[in-house]
Amino acid sequence: MSFRFLRPNAQSVWENKEILSRFSRYKAILDQKKLARYLISKTIKCGFTPEDSIETLENLVHAKSQHLNQLLEERIEVLQQRKNQEENFITLVSKIAMKYLESCIFCERRCGANRAEGEKGLCLVPSGSYVSSAFLHYGEESVLVPSGTIFFQGCNFTCIFCQNYDISQEWKGRRDISDVSQYVSANQLAELADTLSKKGALNINYVGGDPIPNIHTIIANLEFQTANITQLWNSNFYLTDEALSLIIDLIDFWLPDFKYGNNDCAKKYSGIENYYEVLTRNLKRIHDEGSGEIIIRHLVMPNHVECCSKPILDFVAKEIPKSVVNIMGQYRPVYHACNYEEINRRPSSEEMQQVQNYADKLGILWRPVS
Ligand code: SF4
Repeated sequence: MSFRFLRPNAQSVWENKEILSRFSRYKAILDQKKLARYLISKTIKCGFTPEDSIETLENLVHAKSQHLNQLLEERIEVLQQRKNQEENFITLVSKIAMKYLESCIFCERRCGANRAEGEKGLCLVPSGSYVSSAFLHYGEESVLVPSGTIFFQGCNFTCIFCQNYDISQEWKGRRDISDVSQYVSANQLAELADTLSKKGALNINYVGGDPIPNIHTIIANLEFQTANITQLWNSNFYLTDEALSLIIDLIDFWLPDFKYGNNDCAKKYSGIENYYEVLTRNLKRIHDEGSGEIIIRHLVMPNHVECCSKPILDFVAKEIPKSVVNIMGQYRPVYHACNYEEINRRPSSEEMQQVQNYADKLGILWRPVS
């Protein structure tokens, strides 16, 4: 693989002992010394019938999740001897995801739309999934590049400053999703992922818009993928607890946005309720029960250091200390942001410095990925 186009610190970042320690499993997958979680999950037999209730299936996930987490400790040579099962952990969670699609509860909007029968919820994403682009991304965090990034059309947020507004917001209500992006079945998504892997991707990076409305397709695609490659969830992280339960054991690396340190700002700029409770609940869960290999993306916004940046960093330091934070200065007033005077500029260098100093004061690791 050629590293010609990598960010300058993409290789030297692994000389940082703290990064190596916090992302040790990801590094071991890169070095082919560990298996990606989804490959292990295919070997776990999960017998269920079409008549089983959703509660029965959810209980089965809980029980099999414990088995999967035990297997994570096994040596790769032992795991490679295990046979794939026809009814396995992925087919089990996939079955539940399709049931949730009949009254959609993938995100905390909890629209209840029967997407399986053609209804649409607030995100307007239909039952199928649509991809606007997929390519090797060299602009992600140093440990991740080149990243096999797959951009899904559509989003469950309505951020007035969205930097990807063309794929998340602008088509809504004006054009059909198939006019602006390409339908992908689970099988086709896996082919995309395998192609990116062969081209040298270090991970498969599900993003958008947001991957949450497409969680059923993403889970199902894992039945068809074959490469030993990290599965990465790059999202606004406004999932329900039920939806997170489906993927928490399958995702190796987490890349959540954490934008707002309070609910008022979230409501004002992204149109969502209970943001802070939902985000902190989900982040705590992936930190304590999931892989715990997390880069939090915090976009510093002008005039939001005290109300957003500092409370977020306080939470990270206290509740999810293994996380690394990307303190992002890329905010710029696009889309409808010009209608909000307080955010109609880029963050100043003083604001960026204030946030970075505060992270240092709390002992947060941010430099190697920012
Ligand atoms: S993913 Fe879309 S349809 Fe489902 S609950 Fe969220 S906004 Fe509603």
